This record gives sequence, structure tokens and C-alpha cells, in this order.
Amino acid sequence: MSPAANMPVLEVKDLKKHFPVRKGLLRRTVGHVYAVDGISFSIGVGETLGLVGESGCGKTTAGRAVLRLIEPTSGSVQVGGTEIIGLSKSEMRPYRAQMQIIFQDPFGSLNPRMTAGEIVAEPLLVHGTGRRKERDEQVAALFARVGLRPAQMSNYPHQFSGGQRQRIGIARALALGPKLIVGDEPVSALDVSIQAQVINLLQDLQRERQLSYLFISHNLAVVEHISHRIAVMYLGRIVEYADTRSIFTNAQHPYTEALLSAAPVPDPAIRRKKMVLQGDVPSPVRPPPGCHFHTRCPYAVDRCRVESPPLREIAPGHQVSCHLR
Ligand code: SF4
Repeated sequence: MSPAANMPVLEVKDLKKHFPVRKGLLRRTVGHVYAVDGISFSIGVGETLGLVGESGCGKTTAGRAVLRLIEPTSGSVQVGGTEIIGLSKSEMRPYRAQMQIIFQDPFGSLNPRMTAGEIVAEPLLVHGTGRRKERDEQVAALFARVGLRPAQMSNYPHQFSGGQRQRIGIARALALGPKLIVGDEPVSALDVSIQAQVINLLQDLQRERQLSYLFISHNLAVVEHISHRIAVMYLGRIVEYADTRSIFTNAQHPYTEALLSAAPVPDPAIRRKKMVLQGDVPSPVRPPPGCHFHTRCPYAVDRCRVESPPLREIAPGHQVSCHLR
């Protein structure tokens, strides 16, 4: 599975999102949540980048900041070579059409008072695309493409199963012909058998339409299946970034090793070194100094407690932030 072209659809550099922590009557800022703390990555045409990490590592915030659904604190986000940070609402319009999102909870993200057809047509309406009849035809075609019957356009979200609701979410994301889709745990709420069907649909759509995906998930098996490259996040930073094969056969960061050792292996012939992580992810309000991972890392040395390791290239296309690599 190699990306069709190298030209990045999305290029993110040193992206940060720090949320102020306010206290007291005057709501004074007393600190910050360092949710995303300087991440960089790119996604090519027809490529999937998997963004993985435990809950609270900042991956969801990163996905939303890339789309400017929340405003980044600083950094650069280029879409097709154009910087979108700082663009006004009207200047953002064409880029909003190019970048869509699929959410984890297909029920919560669909308006229960709108029919499925209205939900999928909404982006077309907002962007003033076509007349009513053309829109209806387009929506019917999208329904058919994602495996729903056009006759179901008049049904309401509660009349669909979880998998079907996620198909509605995918049809809505496809409506404006995007180049990039951010999937925020898009299959995590579904049964395993349904997960496979939705993943297959996403892969078919990618091949057909040269779509690029930023696929956010805590589930390594799913990420391995769909991603060309993987970025591993810990406490707001990327700690390892490489092609999928290198991550799964030659992980270099102790945190990646720990994630892999905790993931189930489908082939009993493959044995992975067991590595149990102690404790929880520290608070992003007060991340540990030096290497953020030193409080849980079995290999930590004195230097790790004071000096933050930069993300360095240790082999072509393989970056790691660890003093020992
Ligand atoms: Fe562990 Fe030190 Fe490497 Fe951080 S820099 S991952 S604490 S060995």
C-alpha cells in the first residue's frame, strides 16, 4: 500500500493547542493544558496517516486543530500548499469543503430531528451547491455508494443501526468531494464485524477518489490495517513517526513498544516482548520535565528527567524522540 503521490495534501508544522486553565471570580489564567505541544506531520494524496496514543494524549485535539474546528495556539497548517491558519471565515470556505471529519459516535453527531437525506444534503445546501433536484440525486448516489438504499433517505437516525449511522456520517463527509477526511475513532463505537465493513468501505473510497485520511484511533490493529504511516503521540507530542511496517516490526520508542506489547496479536506464532506500563498518563497541565515519558519509562536515565529529546530521524522516514536511540 503505497501512497499514489508524494505531494502533501496536508502539511502540519509545529502545531500547538494550549487551553488556558482559569480560576477564581475573575477567571484569571493560572496555567495551561498542553493538549498539543508542537507536532509536525504530512499526508500525501491517497495516503492514510494513523495517529495513535492513549486517551488524553492529544490526538483528538490535534485532529480538530488541523481542521480549525478549534483555533490552534500556534503553528502552521498547509492544505494543498496554502497556509490556512489566519484565514478569515470566508477565505476558509473552499478549504472547509476540502477537509471533512467523521466522528466516533455516529448517533451523537447526527441531528435526530433531520432525516438521513437532509443530513447528507446539509453540506451541499450550506455551500450553495446545485438545485434541489440535483442535490437529491447527488444524495441518492451517495447513499448507494456507502451501502444504503436511497429509499432510506426519508428515515431518521434512530431508525438505523450503528453501522448504518456511520455510513450516513461517511456520506455526509463525502458530499462536497473532499480531499482529506479526518476520522476521529470512526469505528471504535461499532461491533468488530461492522468495524471491518466500515474500514473496507473507507479503503474502497480512498482508492476510488484518491482520498487522504488522518485516522485517529487508540486501536493499533485497526490503525495497522488502514494506515500507510503512523505517528505515535504521548502527552501532546509525537514520539515516533514511521511507515506502518517499521512501527510494527521495528518500533524504537519505549512507549510504542509498550503500546504494541499491550495490543492483541492475531497470529499466535508471533510473540512480542511484554512491557507493562506503570501508572497513568500524567496531567497535560503539568507535564513532567525532560522527556514527558520518563515517569513511566523502564529505561529512563538521569538525562531523561531534565532534557527533552528532540524528534530525530534514525533511518530514512523513521523519526524517534528518545535519548537512547
Ligand atoms: Fe525513556 Fe529516556 Fe527515551 Fe524518554 S528519553 S523514552 S525516558 S529512555
